[in-house]
Amino acid sequence: MVDTVRIWYVSAQRLCNFCCSYCVSINDYAKSSSTDWLEEDDQARFERIVYWIAECPFRVGVRLATLGEPFTSRPFLARAAWLTTRQNVDFVELVTNGSLLTKRLDQLDREGDISKVSLWVTHHHTQISVPRFIENARFAQEEYGCFVVVNGLLFPDNEPAVLELKLAAEEAGLRFHLDLGYDPLTPHGAHSTLDAMVPLLREEDGIARAIRLGADPELLELNLLAMRDLRNQLCSAGHNYFYIGIRGDVFRCSRYQALGKDRLGNVLDGDFELQLNDAPWVPCKAGFGCSNKEDFLNLRRDRKGGPTGPSLGWVGDGR
Ligand code: SF4
Ligand code: SF4
Repeated sequence: MVDTVRIWYVSAQRLCNFCCSYCVSINDYAKSSSTDWLEEDDQARFERIVYWIAECPFRVGVRLATLGEPFTSRPFLARAAWLTTRQNVDFVELVTNGSLLTKRLDQLDREGDISKVSLWVTHHHTQISVPRFIENARFAQEEYGCFVVVNGLLFPDNEPAVLELKLAAEEAGLRFHLDLGYDPLTPHGAHSTLDAMVPLLREEDGIARAIRLGADPELLELNLLAMRDLRNQLCSAGHNYFYIGIRGDVFRCSRYQALGKDRLGNVLDGDFELQLNDAPWVPCKAGFGCSNKEDFLNLRRDRKGGPTGPSLGWVGDGR
């Protein structure tokens, strides 16, 4: 058994205080400006899945993701806090827009072990100014000692905002990461062309622009490879990493879930027993379209290594 198994769980928490035009939480996975849990059982299901994670017979590092903004939801934060108190949990990573950190982090501190909280804080340039955003991220890092990554999203039309963000993060001593923004209307299972999925790639100098603005070239290369062609690729997803969907279904990774491929079972079934691959490297059978960093960082490759630190997305220096 590996030292720590990383889990990406996307829960059904939906309330969000932002309204980004490119939001990828759509259709069945839509975020909401008024409802925290859409279906009657959503919250209870979430609590049972978190409990199952806490009972895993191995050490875990969890990206506890949502469809909305986690800091709008007190019930969500209460379970996240509880999870940090469990002995087998190394870290709990929350993916947030950063707007409510100064107001709501104290709940995680009061009710949980905030030293295990990791924050992936994405800037949405039409919704919050860079100075206010950076101040909130710095507050989390300096006042509470959280592991914080400031994340930018690069689209064809927001280069000035990304540059401002990068410089401000560096000045504040915050880790900075840059992702390519995706088009939310790209169908999941379809064979979409890359430039349909990633608007920046419609621009001639898209990749060069991303690197100039701080994207990791090796990571970009891996991202493009994983989206284009996975033939003959070995991957450790299903061995030291797996994915749980909003209704408790478990898959090797989120791409396998989108394809409905090789479901490992459902956490909410009483007799479910998780069988992870004994072999660390198993061929990928998805073909193409692996576009989420949580997933494709598990590909075998000749580079520095997989995620470092308490995050499913950060590959820079650890703590
Ligand atoms: S903050 Fe995130 S969940 Fe909320 S609208 Fe923006 S992209 Fe969607
Ligand atoms: S390469 Fe991507 S799609 Fe293939 S198994 Fe790994 S994580 Fe899943």
